Amino acid sequence: MGYWKKHPVKELNALLGEYHEAGWEIIDPPKYYKVKCPCGGHMRSIHLTPSNPNYARDCIKWLYRQDCYTGKVVARR
Ligand SMILES: [Zn+2]
Repeated sequence: MGYWKKHPVKELNALLGEYHEAGWEIIDPPKYYKVKCPCGGHMRSIHLTPSNPNYARDCIKWLYRQDCYTGKVVARR
């Protein structure tokens, strides 16, 4: 399914899955992942080895805060 390479950290891989489900584009790293939202106005990087233990949770919260995030899986009809 996912076109990004598996993230070595389980939680962060799940995190990338969340972004993917929300319709974000995930760009594979040389050093970190980049996620780009469907509206094109939001973008951030996802680190490979974050030192912050809450990093995955913070990134999810950030996703939920974006105005273009609907909370629904983006599906084409
Ligand atoms: Zn957006």
